[in-house]
This record gives sequence, C-alpha cells and structure tokens, in this order.
Amino acid sequence: MSWSWSFGRVAGIDLKVHASFLLVLLLGASQWGGFGPSGAVFGAVLTLLTFASVLLHELGHSLVALAFDIPVKDITLYPIGGVARLGARPKTPGQEFLVAVAGPAVNVLLVFIIGALGGWWFGFETLWNALEQVRAEQPSVVTLVALLISSNAVLAIFNMIPALPMDGGRVLRAVLSSLMGPAKATRVSAWIARVLALGLFAAGILARNPMLSVVAVFVFIGAGQEVREQQFAHVLDAIEVGDAINPYAPRLTPATTLADAVAVLTMTHWDAFAVEQHGRIIGAATRKAILEAATREGAYGYVSGIIDRNVPTIAPNERLEAARVVMSSRGVPYVAVVRDGAFLGLLTEADLLLIADRLMRNNKRWGESSSAPFPRTPTSRN
Ligand SMILES: [Zn+2]
Repeated sequence: MSWSWSFGRVAGIDLKVHASFLLVLLLGASQWGGFGPSGAVFGAVLTLLTFASVLLHELGHSLVALAFDIPVKDITLYPIGGVARLGARPKTPGQEFLVAVAGPAVNVLLVFIIGALGGWWFGFETLWNALEQVRAEQPSVVTLVALLISSNAVLAIFNMIPALPMDGGRVLRAVLSSLMGPAKATRVSAWIARVLALGLFAAGILARNPMLSVVAVFVFIGAGQEVREQQFAHVLDAIEVGDAINPYAPRLTPATTLADAVAVLTMTHWDAFAVEQHGRIIGAATRKAILEAATREGAYGYVSGIIDRNVPTIAPNERLEAARVVMSSRGVPYVAVVRDGAFLGLLTEADLLLIADRLMRNNKRWGESSSAPFPRTPTSRN
C-alpha cells in the first residue's frame, strides 16, 4: 500500500497523487477561507493549478529523459513537490544536465505564457499591479493569474538552488562530472548540498517558514543518498552479468508444489526463481507470486499457475548496471542471462543488491566469499 492514487497517463507514464495531497488542498482552501466560501474555492483552485505547474515541471524532466531512452516509472505529486522516478541514470553529464534543466525551464516558459495571456486579457498594467500586491489582493481571477505567475517563478528559482538532489544540484553535478568524473563530482556536490541545506534550515526558522526547513532536511538526507546511489551504479558498472550468475541458484518446475516452492524460498535470499521443463527454461516465478499463490490456493497448488513466460533477457557480456535498467524498465525483479539462445542463469534484483552491498562494504573480502563464487574481482573502485 503506497497511499497514492493514479489519475492519468501521459506518454506511458503513470501520474499519481499521494493521499496527503488532500490535506494540502484543505490548507489551501483554509488560507483563503477568510473571504468566505468563494475564498475557500479560490484557495482550492489555486492549489490545484499550482500542483498542475509542478506536474508540468516533472513532465519536463520525464519527456527529456524519454528522449534519451531513459525509462520513466511514474510521477507522484507529494505535498512538498513532485517526483519523477527514472528507471535508469542519465548516461552522460550532458544528458543529466538537460534532464535536470528541463523541469525549471517548463516553469520559466509558464511564467511567460501565463504572463502574456494574462496581460492580453486583463491589460499588462492591471496584471502588473496585481503582481506587485499579490499577497494583499482579494480573491479574483487576476489575482489567481498573478499568483500562478509568481509561484512558477518561485518553482524555477527554488529548484535551481545548486543543492543535490534538487535540479540545480544535478546541473552542478553534471558540470563538475565533465571536469572531475562522476564519483568525485557527486561527493563535492553532496557536500555543497549539505552546507546549503544547513543554511536553508536556518533560513526556514528565521523566516518562520517550516516548509523551508522540512525541504532542507530532505535535501540533507537526499545528498547522502545520491552519493550511495552513485557508488552503487559505479560498482554495478564494473561487473559483467556473466560473472554474477550464481550457478547454485535453485530452479523450479511447473509441477513443483507451492509447499515445496515455499520451502525453497525460505532457505534462500533470491526474490525470483527460474522455472524449467524438460531441461529447458520456460520462465520465472517470483517470491512474491509464490507466497501469494500459496496463501490463496494452499500448499497443494502448483508453480505452473504463476510462471512469467515473458522473461526479459540480457547477454552475459553486458554490465550489471544494464541488467538493472532492463529490470526497472520492464518492472520485474529478474532478467534471464542468455548466450546464443542458451540459458545461463537468472539474475535477480536481490543478487544486484547483495553484490553491490558486499563490494561497497569490503572490496577485499568479496573475492573469498564462499556462498557466491564470482570468478572475477573488479579492480577499480575510484
Ligand atoms: Zn525538478
């Protein structure tokens, strides 16, 4: 249960809104509630239109990402802003720069479009007056337009603060990456972000703006996550898929009972298993599907009912990072490693996490591991 509702689809991207958004709507309505019921409606409409701007901002990121063949899982609107979840990292600093800049660019565009339309409709002088005293205005259509212009300007400027993981931070990281490589650029950007976050937090307290302080906390935590994610991707980029296959991974058959399947998964860490029939791989079954089917059908059901026969494939000489991208773009936690039509093994999301975790914690001990005999140890770790 994620507490989010889907409300539409654009270019194959699921648009979702988090349940807590209802609170923001109420808050928006109550802020203008002093003007009576029409004020409350005004506040709610303003909130909806502001979040429509946030949605367009996220679509800006997403459509540029899609243009670079970077899958976009979904866009979710939270009270604090929107999040577009990308299925892969931009491949070059140039791509990261353009994906990051696209969001704020949409807001700049909206400032000019809404400004031009509003000026044409109300006259530029009326609109300018409304903009100058936007907080003291009565709720009216020209106030609504003025507030939308100013909120889009704030969205563009605020997001360009060079603090990872905000857009400005990604732009900074992209520029630094082309100078010092992605690993160092991420570390430097993260430190700049932490310093800026402390400043934002203090500013939020001084200006009595709790939202600003909350954003500062998210930035501070997010900066650390960016460093870990970059290390994760770096580690996965150093290893070939063929070297990560575990030859001892158990396999199931369509005739395996759910009871036997549950017994297998309680003894192992894998989140998916290859299913074979007459010595040939016909699909995969996930831990989740096995547990759900066992709950539904009892122990005497069979694996045959829960086989995914459309397993994505990857060649053994590809990198683990590529395997991760395949998994996330297909929305499944596994990929079959296939060479010349022959099945070599199933690589799962749990394998990636385990491998990256071991490498990131202790590069040396990894080679001596007995439970996962990987023949090659990566040499560079930056
Ligand atoms: Zn953005």
